[in-house]
Amino acid sequence: MDSLRRLPPWQLFTACGAVVAAVCLLTPAGLLHDAVFSSISLAAAAATAAGARLHRPQRASAWWLLAAGLLAWALGDVGYAVCYDWLGWEAFPSVPDVFYVLAYPLIAAAMLRMARQARPGSDREGVIDASILAVGFGMLSWTFLVRPALAELPEDLLAGLVALAYPVGDVVVLAMLVRVSAAAGHGSRAFWLLCGAATSMLLADALWQYADAYQDFDATWIDAVFALSYVLWGAAALHPSMRRLSDPSPTSRHEFTTLRLVVLTAASLLAPGTLGLQLALGQQPQGWAVVISSSVLFLLVVARMSALLRRLREQTALLGDLARTDPLTGLLNRRSADSALERLREQAQREGTPLVVALIDLDRFKAFNDSRGHPAGDRLLVGAATAWVAALEGSGVQLARWGGEEFLAVSVGLGTGRVEELLAGLRRVVPEGQTFSAGVARWDGREESGRLVARADEALYAAKAAGRDRTCTAGAPEHAA
Ligand code: GH3
Ligand code: MG
Ligand code: MG
Repeated sequence: MDSLRRLPPWQLFTACGAVVAAVCLLTPAGLLHDAVFSSISLAAAAATAAGARLHRPQRASAWWLLAAGLLAWALGDVGYAVCYDWLGWEAFPSVPDVFYVLAYPLIAAAMLRMARQARPGSDREGVIDASILAVGFGMLSWTFLVRPALAELPEDLLAGLVALAYPVGDVVVLAMLVRVSAAAGHGSRAFWLLCGAATSMLLADALWQYADAYQDFDATWIDAVFALSYVLWGAAALHPSMRRLSDPSPTSRHEFTTLRLVVLTAASLLAPGTLGLQLALGQQPQGWAVVISSSVLFLLVVARMSALLRRLREQTALLGDLARTDPLTGLLNRRSADSALERLREQAQREGTPLVVALIDLDRFKAFNDSRGHPAGDRLLVGAATAWVAALEGSGVQLARWGGEEFLAVSVGLGTGRVEELLAGLRRVVPEGQTFSAGVARWDGREESGRLVARADEALYAAKAAGRDRTCTAGAPEHAA
């Protein structure tokens, strides 16, 4: 007894639930059986509320909604025992149906809330995936459960609607299960208990509807599956990891895993698969249901593909930006400076306008780093780049980070004199009184860009040699005379 008390609540609940479920299954169908059965579902609702109180998850509302849904379900079970076993009513729909039908939206809302906590904001892909599964299974359910059940019913609108509410409720809960499992972190045991609970509930419900539709009333073994789902719901809420259930999934939001692809493909094939099964069984196929569900599935798959394509385009653009820019200063990096220079050289050739490059190198920057620290050096690089971009705005000069503390400025259409003036402007805006040296070279109309930059570098070297904090301009190359 003492060791039982030392068990964590979720294990204690699971153990007791298993024992009561076994007792229930051993009790022949009837009032006692259904009373014991109801006690498990009532306990599951109570355990869910207790779990929400005990573990105090950050946003407990989802768990309270779940507890309310399970309570409604349990009241359905109680009502079933009272109305059908005790009072001997025969009518459908009846009091328990009110509670059962109410349970679906509550449970679905609880799961939707968990999914949204794990993945806030719009989740178009998640909605499409959930819809694909809902339509696929909805088609299956319509063909093999709903239609036959409706055929058995008297011509009564209310009875028809209530009978329809069960499979529709299942499909909605299934859709929410898909959303939770795509959004929530799979690291917590509570997550798997919850998925097990929802899956066994859906399975039991489908089996029950099947038994009902085909008048196969040996439903007691199906109660075992229901009991399993009750125990799992309660265990999920009582498990301490329920606090982490709505933590975001570690796999990226938009990762399209192989498992997802397989599940979505299988779900998309449910509509034609159902048609095939009906043909194989020699049944009259549900033509319109197949037409409608296949068309909706097809549109959903196309929507999913377009969402993936858009994501691909966004990522390509992002990668392109990353490949082009220097992460520290946000300027063009050397790779894109190279291609920009090539492009501008062609433009200068085409238009017959001057092309001038300037290499800018901060003076004694190593000393700055050594005395002020590397992070301060980084800040200075960013500050200088920002100030220069602002100073060059409208001049048509392109600025890039050539390497370390070296920058390349390229201009088309301006002469060396104008570029020298612009460099003088840049000198005035460098933060912290930092100085730089610059080497300017004008394209001779023939040379390769590499050669042009090399001449600017030689001029830069001359500026350094002449005492730094100045600009030197390369003379015309020999062949340009
Ligand atoms: P000189 O006047 O001859 O150009 O002297 P210098 O110290 O600037 O020249 P040198 O090329 O010897 O040193 C460049 C220094 O720039 C080396 C390194 O400490 C610094 N540096 C290069 N890239 C970065 C960077 O991204 N961040 C920081 N903080 N420092 C950098
Ligand atoms: Mg330097
Ligand atoms: Mg340098």
